[in-house]
Amino acid sequence: MDPFAPLGRTMDAGRQQCTYSPGDIPANDCGAQATWHILWAPNGDAGLACDPHMAEARHRFVFTDSHRVGPDCDMPGTAWSFDEKRCFHPGELVTVTAAVEVPVREGAA
Ligand SMILES: [Zn+2]
Ligand SMILES: [Zn+2]
Repeated sequence: MDPFAPLGRTMDAGRQQCTYSPGDIPANDCGAQATWHILWAPNGDAGLACDPHMAEARHRFVFTDSHRVGPDCDMPGTAWSFDEKRCFHPGELVTVTAAVEVPVREGAA
């Protein structure tokens, strides 16, 4: 069996739905809410999968990387981060959220 997933047509993935589509025809689109983002090849071909179809992809196909779907997955202008296991906007500022520490006075009379 061909270890490479048939990528088929480019789908509108802006709604982050599973792009599994046997036969690559719209009537067969899974359409479930995607939970996984799969990078099929280093060139950037990526797909979205629901839990059952991610399991099938792991079983049947080779792919480059995967991570849980986040808010930036498959959105225009985003890039894949292998290290952080997510998608991100390349221009995004790295915001460090510092917890505001409120001194706790113990035993204050
Ligand atoms: Zn699916
Ligand atoms: Zn992603």
